[in-house]
Amino acid sequence: MIKRFFELQERVLSYHPDANTDLLKKAYSVAADAHINQKRATNEPYIIHPLKVAATLADLKLDDISIAAALLHDVVEDTAYTREDIDRLFGKEISDIVWGVTKISKISNVDSENAKAETLKKMILAMTGDVRVILIKLADRYHNILTLDALTPEKQKRIARETLDIYAPIAYRLGMGKIRMELEDISFKYAYPEDYERIAGEVDARRDWANEKLEGIKKELEGVLEHFKINGEIQYRIKRLISIYRKLHRQNITLDRVYDLLALRIITDTVENCYALMGEIHQRWTFIPVRWRDFIATPKANGYQSIHTTVMTKEGLMFEIQIRTREMHRIAEDGIAAHWKYKEGIAFLDNDQRLQWFRDMIETHKENPNPREFLSMVKGDLIPNEVYVFTPKGKVINLKKGSTPIDFAYAIHSEIGDHCKMAIVNESLVPLKTQLNSGDVLEIITSKEINPSIDWLKYAVTSKAKKKIMSYIQRKEFAQYEDRGRRIWNRILREYRRKYNLKLSEQEIVDRVRNIHCTDMDNFFRSVGSNNKILDKGGLKKLFPEISPKDIEPERKPVKRISQLYRLVNVEGYRDVDVSFARCCNPIKGDKIAGFITKNRGLVIHKESCANLRYVMPTRRLQVNWNVEVADYSYEVRYDLVVIDKPGLLSAISTIIAGYNSNIRRIENENISQQMNKLKITFEVKDTSQLSKIEEELKSVKNVFQIIRKKV
Ligand code: MN
Repeated sequence: MIKRFFELQERVLSYHPDANTDLLKKAYSVAADAHINQKRATNEPYIIHPLKVAATLADLKLDDISIAAALLHDVVEDTAYTREDIDRLFGKEISDIVWGVTKISKISNVDSENAKAETLKKMILAMTGDVRVILIKLADRYHNILTLDALTPEKQKRIARETLDIYAPIAYRLGMGKIRMELEDISFKYAYPEDYERIAGEVDARRDWANEKLEGIKKELEGVLEHFKINGEIQYRIKRLISIYRKLHRQNITLDRVYDLLALRIITDTVENCYALMGEIHQRWTFIPVRWRDFIATPKANGYQSIHTTVMTKEGLMFEIQIRTREMHRIAEDGIAAHWKYKEGIAFLDNDQRLQWFRDMIETHKENPNPREFLSMVKGDLIPNEVYVFTPKGKVINLKKGSTPIDFAYAIHSEIGDHCKMAIVNESLVPLKTQLNSGDVLEIITSKEINPSIDWLKYAVTSKAKKKIMSYIQRKEFAQYEDRGRRIWNRILREYRRKYNLKLSEQEIVDRVRNIHCTDMDNFFRSVGSNNKILDKGGLKKLFPEISPKDIEPERKPVKRISQLYRLVNVEGYRDVDVSFARCCNPIKGDKIAGFITKNRGLVIHKESCANLRYVMPTRRLQVNWNVEVADYSYEVRYDLVVIDKPGLLSAISTIIAGYNSNIRRIENENISQQMNKLKITFEVKDTSQLSKIEEELKSVKNVFQIIRKKV
């Protein structure tokens, strides 16, 4: 811990023997003098702060210019010294850096999304000028959050959240893993105190267990190193609290489902060793292919390299192992600072990928100045964006974060996607729109009668699923338009042929259609059918030049369709009456029914046995029968099933309902006691005969004790 200037100077000389010590001394004495009457909120002398900031940069082994600028970083902002004073005393390079830091401080203290994006943009601009501005700013923020305790909770929260939203992502993009994690770990506690307490408590409860397991695996890995005579250091840790928080938050799971809670790292000498160790680890434990990442072969954009793999022990314990060389480790910790070249100024960074990334961000932002997108771009893969799920046979499917059973179904096969009806996730029936979590086991139930619908597009996130759904809808729409267009056109053609005694050959029609810019007849029918204005007066004039324009009538718009419930029943003595079904008794086709004329709702259909019908005046009661010809309508019914919850039960129940080609709309589960559950199932049936078959079969399922039909 550096507390005094001479310690700082010694540290700098230890890695940079040619450092300009006169410059460092002068910077320190100017800063000490400028801040002489100031105190930090912690009541310490102010100079402690720039000294600590400079010490962080010394830990990163930065050059003397950076250290001097760090010592002076608050002088222009907080004291009587001006930019010109610094320029005169230390030259342009240092005064530019100090000024850059000062400018960013002025725009800080922000909470809204827009203001955050603005801050971020200015920081990136400053950095692409001289990256040392940001390195000082990161070190400055690091010391500030270390001393947050001295501030009010509101200020703590604001500063901590800003750190998580802006500073940590920048550190990540610069590849500076160590400072980024420090920033995140400390800020998390202040930014989300309740979540922090909760997760810290849960982790603490498992700490002894976790350390014991980790110690055991470490021993085994040491044995591996020894056996292969490989030099290496093994570290281990429990997943960081903020990473756990993000995972729980994102996937809505409990700590027990966090499969990479335990993590180990092997740091060795050579890349060959890394791969050799990986091979041995995959031999020794069951490894999970989708969790395997080779960032050695393909480094991250921020320069990070390592092998990541997740393996499972015989008793089902999962842990993650990272394997890297010492050099990779240094780059993972210090990022851009790991490459510092003292002799070359900062010109050596001109071609650095990491800075190029920031320059590209600024360019993109100029084209699309949406602050939300800009922020999320910079945060980017701080938050992992994949989930992996399993088929019932244990095959792993890797999907984009936010994926639903629809995406899964299409990932398996497009036929399964096109006809997916329901999904069973971890033994529970869920709607197709449910977001999947890593580790979920999925089963898709298909039905030939199901086809993709527009709704699916709202729930699909993978491009494969979206493309397939779109193309199905388009095909179907095209076919409908073509069909409709053909009918409209044939009617018009008949009419004109008859009225004006036109004799047109097929070829003549094709030619005329080409004349109005349709490539072929199908294309023409689609345009007509999709209500395109192609058959307006102008279009018809071109199609029938022999007819006098005053005789041409443009095609009429089709009539809007009205509620179709009226067609389900026949009512004696009435036609086209408004029909609705009573909610009290919820009649379905096959039930004995009667109608009741109301003032506002037209004819309301009740079951004949419904108690509410008893009080209806006989004059308003009507004889009603089901229209047996209508077969394409489904009625919703709801049942409560009292069951003992056993694995496979839900799947058995839904298979029965699906077996009758009935569509399940909803399932809710309510705990009655420790073992007893009430399943509230809503599904669709065509008529009472289908319903009674389903009911019978449900009654025969083991562990189902009671079946009660409810109001919908
Ligand atoms: Mn400061």
